[in-house]
Amino acid sequence: MIKKTHHISLDHFIICKKCDTLHQKKPLRTGAVAKCRECGSVLYRRHNNLIDYGLALGISAFIFFVIANAFPIVTIELRGIQQHISLPSVILSLFENDFFLVGLFCAFVIFIFPFLILALFIWTMWLLKIRRGEKQVERLLIWLAKLLPWSMTEIFLISIFVALVKLIGYAQIHFGISLGALIVFVAFDLYLSKSISIDELWLAKKRRFEG
Ligand SMILES: [Zn+2]
Repeated sequence: MIKKTHHISLDHFIICKKCDTLHQKKPLRTGAVAKCRECGSVLYRRHNNLIDYGLALGISAFIFFVIANAFPIVTIELRGIQQHISLPSVILSLFENDFFLVGLFCAFVIFIFPFLILALFIWTMWLLKIRRGEKQVERLLIWLAKLLPWSMTEIFLISIFVALVKLIGYAQIHFGISLGALIVFVAFDLYLSKSISIDELWLAKKRRFEG
């Protein structure tokens, strides 16, 4: 059902990510889910409290991100010498040992991308909440869509575990509180990216600013 045939914007269509079928979007009731007619996968949904929910999740994730970076992840004891290892110290030691490219890559994956994504996300949700800056929200959402594929925190967490498992037997390992915070942060991050999509935020933006 197309009302204004002379002006159909791409906002009204969605492509199924699984089977590439093109669908026309229809407004949903709160709490409802739109599924693909061909393969049944979820196209988009309308959360009951998308903005408050997103804001709360974003801020919680941010707190754990700060803790994960502020304290040691592990303390390694080798021949009586204790070494505290934190996320910033991993990046710094890579630079100090002239692994410049690896250091730069790690800095982006561990710190810069997660920080930027979270900060932009919280900012977007806040603007949506106070109904200010429609154009700014549009730009923020476009940036988020570009940055999200670079969110690889879970891969990073797995590589930390692999490195720790390799160290077992050579050194004594004491886990720090940042490891717990990092695990919680990654869990939030995964949950956020699975449960809230940019398409959905775009729709929420339209509802917020167009009444
Ligand atoms: Zn499909």
